[in-house]
Amino acid sequence: MIPALSPHAPALREAARREPLGLYLHVPFCRDRCTYCSFVTTRDELLKAAVLGQLRRQLLDWGQLLGRPAVDTLYLGGGTPSLLSARDLAELTGAAAEAFDLATLEEATLEANPGTLDPAWLEQALHLGWDRISLGVQTLDDALLGRLGRIHDGRTALEALAWARAAGFTRVSADLMVGIPGQDLGRVLADAGTLVRAGANHLSIYLLDLDKACPLRSQVDTGKLVLPSEDEVADVFEALQEELPRLGLQPYEISNYAAPGQASRHNNRYWERRPYLGLGPSAASQLGDWRWTESGVIPAWIEDRGSAEVQELDPAEALAEIPLLGLRMHRGVDWEALRARGRDRNLEPLVDGWEAQLAPFLQHGLLLREGPVLRFTPRGMLLSNGVLQIFV
Ligand code: SF4
Repeated sequence: MIPALSPHAPALREAARREPLGLYLHVPFCRDRCTYCSFVTTRDELLKAAVLGQLRRQLLDWGQLLGRPAVDTLYLGGGTPSLLSARDLAELTGAAAEAFDLATLEEATLEANPGTLDPAWLEQALHLGWDRISLGVQTLDDALLGRLGRIHDGRTALEALAWARAAGFTRVSADLMVGIPGQDLGRVLADAGTLVRAGANHLSIYLLDLDKACPLRSQVDTGKLVLPSEDEVADVFEALQEELPRLGLQPYEISNYAAPGQASRHNNRYWERRPYLGLGPSAASQLGDWRWTESGVIPAWIEDRGSAEVQELDPAEALAEIPLLGLRMHRGVDWEALRARGRDRNLEPLVDGWEAQLAPFLQHGLLLREGPVLRFTPRGMLLSNGVLQIFV
């Protein structure tokens, strides 16, 4: 356990008893590093046994420390979890089931790179209880996939989706990216349609975000590649807002669209500020009043000697997170409940201040008040970053 958390073990245990947790496991391996990626991941296969051993140990340690609490959503992310052998996946799944109570599990999601899948692996994953798969497609344009350093082409991505459906996955998500240098923005709409018709019932649509250290960033900085303009990008997101409901997918969060009943329950918990435990290098957790992030240095994390960041949220920070995260969701935030909570914690002036700052956005139609609920309008969703700054 992270030393700074040791004194709080009883409080963490109590928090884990109050409601089921989300459990996130980070698998930090990729076959190749994409040119835009800044996630904690490695190509070093030699680390695999040690990482998986440490993940299993941590599962058992945390399960014991928290009193084998109930987990209702499970998420295997990365990195590339689909690089795990079927046997490694079975061992990891078994350790999670031993350490935590999965009797009320509602959802178990696997992230997968389409370039690493095969039908037998998918059938095995489904058999182990993984019932939702999230495919990192990004685009179906082969030239752009090459630019992004992805290890698959568009045909492979569609084949992986077809295999997932054929294996029996009824919940299939695909990631799409907007803002890739050279991207024909109309192509994003076409790709979304192709993926939905091929069986995806959830789409996560992200703006390309280039970290300072990634190779694509230096190509942009040196002028070799040019990013689409903010206006072009905004036009695509606006067009997606119109097009995706026609395809049967409704928005439920700024970046996420789902067919009825297909919203990600695990991801919803982040925006609802429900508790989660993240294990693996760079994995984040929030339980009770504490939030922490494991070391992102893989060898140090394996040996339990990496420095983790631990933060105890004060009441004002915790209150600000309710609108900061909750307004991302299409259904918005119960502002009256937030106000009552602020009153209970002597934070009414803080809420008053937010209301004053939000008033112009309400007047200009970016926000909408419906009874007790405050939420973004579709146009507000496109400009949400500026509004959400109020709560940072
Ligand atoms: S597959 Fe995902 S985690 Fe791996 S390098 Fe590419 S973007 Fe990063």
